[in-house]
Amino acid sequence: MYSLIIKNAKVVDGSGKNSSPELLDVAVEKDEIVNIGKNLSPKAHKVIDAEGKVLAPGFVDLQNHSDSYWQIFDNPSLDSLVSQGFTTIAIGQCGASLAPLVSSSAPLAMQKWHSLEGANLNWQTFEEFLNVLSERKYGTNVASLVGYATLRRGIVGDEIRALEKPELEAVKKILKESFQAGAFGLSSGLSYAHEIIISQLELFELAKLVSENKALFSVHLRSESSEAIESVEEVLEIARSSDLNLKISHLKIRGAANWKNHTHLLEVLENAYHKGIRVHFDSYPYETIWQPLYSYLPKWAIEGGRNLMLKHFSDPVQKNKILAYLNSSDVKWSDIVLASTGNRLQFLGKTIGHVAKNLEISSEAAVLHVLEHAGSEVLVFEKNLDESSVEDFMYHPLGFVGTDGGGFGINQKGKLVHPRCFGTAPKFLKMVIESSKITLEEAVHKLSGGPAQKLGLVDRGFLRIGYKADMVLFDPEKISDKATYENPYQYSEGIEHVLVNGVSVLSEGKLTGELGGRVLRKK
Ligand SMILES: [Zn+2]
Repeated sequence: MYSLIIKNAKVVDGSGKNSSPELLDVAVEKDEIVNIGKNLSPKAHKVIDAEGKVLAPGFVDLQNHSDSYWQIFDNPSLDSLVSQGFTTIAIGQCGASLAPLVSSSAPLAMQKWHSLEGANLNWQTFEEFLNVLSERKYGTNVASLVGYATLRRGIVGDEIRALEKPELEAVKKILKESFQAGAFGLSSGLSYAHEIIISQLELFELAKLVSENKALFSVHLRSESSEAIESVEEVLEIARSSDLNLKISHLKIRGAANWKNHTHLLEVLENAYHKGIRVHFDSYPYETIWQPLYSYLPKWAIEGGRNLMLKHFSDPVQKNKILAYLNSSDVKWSDIVLASTGNRLQFLGKTIGHVAKNLEISSEAAVLHVLEHAGSEVLVFEKNLDESSVEDFMYHPLGFVGTDGGGFGINQKGKLVHPRCFGTAPKFLKMVIESSKITLEEAVHKLSGGPAQKLGLVDRGFLRIGYKADMVLFDPEKISDKATYENPYQYSEGIEHVLVNGVSVLSEGKLTGELGGRVLRKK
């Protein structure tokens, strides 16, 4: 007697290979897939008739910020992700994680996404963090990476300098302990305030250790605009000399003047891959980015963190230099939309242009005004990607689909979140079905088997006997995202059932309230 059987499904197994034209049954016993075949015995506690719809492995989000947005604590059901079919997420991205906390400076790496005021961080090591996380259940399984800004900042605080040898040794020791505790990899946010200055040599030392521990290196490039290709080459060089398992986060080319470079950028990646470098990337199917506002300032103005940045603002000479820099850039400041702020500024959903008009100042001055008065967390939307490069990235064989978002609940309104938090997977699947640029099997692979292997999951990402029962049943004729920039808090359509470790977290299109997700540790 099975716990569950799903009958008459078009089984797309996550491998990317063409699926059987015949409809199959999949049987589950507790948390495991125990049988796949035609006309299996219908004896089960629960039977779902798939009526020919697509049964796929649960989706694996290789690029998730549910920790940065504090959602793993505020909203462990991670509804906006489960409702898209995600059953595993990898947090600790872009250099920021919630562990290891070497000193009180460490968690500050998170504050650009979410104010940490009042947060109770009662752990220190990665092991302790995973133990605290393990006290609860989640909507999805949760795998964690070590954020390098968190680790490094715990050692040198806001000091802008290279690590001294004993410090580097300490970094390596803590990193190794974190891998032993179950961290799946290391992430770095090379464009952010505390990582801009990291040298290639330091990165290489880290990469060697990551490689020795068979872990993943997830990198947010130094530049995603005019120097994107150089930034890709920088990390490829490191991967080449350390045999690294490398993933580039949220690959994109920002700014109209740079869009033409996207084919060359993909060629650089393909060439590296064909020479044996284990490089992949993730991207999301949207043309608008969601960023901390401070990251638009010149490098020298953000090095060393928020307090130093505010000091520059109060010095008229420095302030004018920053304003001149903003003025000379091709960003349309007046069109940038304020999505969230650390305190309750009244301008959510309004543009910088609107703020500037209200205050009777220039848009550039309004940027600094908001940064100064709206707390450490100021996130904005900027439409600066083009449709064709986004599509080329999404359909590329080296690409996976990652939300770069967090798991939010539908009633958590207040701030605006990027619609990708709610709609990434359905939007991508709909794109694929409408365009036929790649097969549905290849699309599912980019959401499941591909990222699962990249992350090093051994029993998830595929519909195979002996694998965990993480599954999603969707209707390819109805699948569609609904979330918008103005109203992101909307679930997608066409996802009918989601199972996590055999637990039904979404049934007949509705969240059940059950939580099946576990904290994963790398084996
Ligand atoms: Zn990032």
